[in-house]
Amino acid sequence: MSDCLFCKIIAGEIPSDKVYEDDNVFAFKDINPVAPLHVLIIPKKHISTINDLETEDSEVMGSLFLAAKTIAKQQGYHKDGYRTVMNCGEAAGQTVFHVHLHLLAGRDLTWPPG
Ligand code: AMP
Ligand code: ZN
Repeated sequence: MSDCLFCKIIAGEIPSDKVYEDDNVFAFKDINPVAPLHVLIIPKKHISTINDLETEDSEVMGSLFLAAKTIAKQQGYHKDGYRTVMNCGEAAGQTVFHVHLHLLAGRDLTWPPG
């Protein structure tokens, strides 16, 4: 999608602090981190929200979690623990409408989340 911020980041049209990339997935540091590690893991395919997922997207969505595991290990948070969050829709706080998995680590993460 030409007007999607995260599609532009994948294309390199907008700079990002990349931490991981494979055939299906791109991951970069959040511009406004809320934890010492705050990475956004996104599919290279444009999918707006969880509500837009199709059965054919199962593999790529699984790839987001495999990337989270890899990045957490690379960054040294594998053993202490980390949180993954995917917001769906405005009421949940989604502000960029290209699905993204937040990977958060490096501080105590309270539950329930806000
Ligand atoms: P959400 O509120 O779940 O849609 O998350 C969107 C996230 O994208 C927020 O945490 C923002 O800080 C982050 N964000 C927005 N623009 C950029 C950007 N250009 N580079 C990196 N992260 C961004
Ligand atoms: Zn997009």
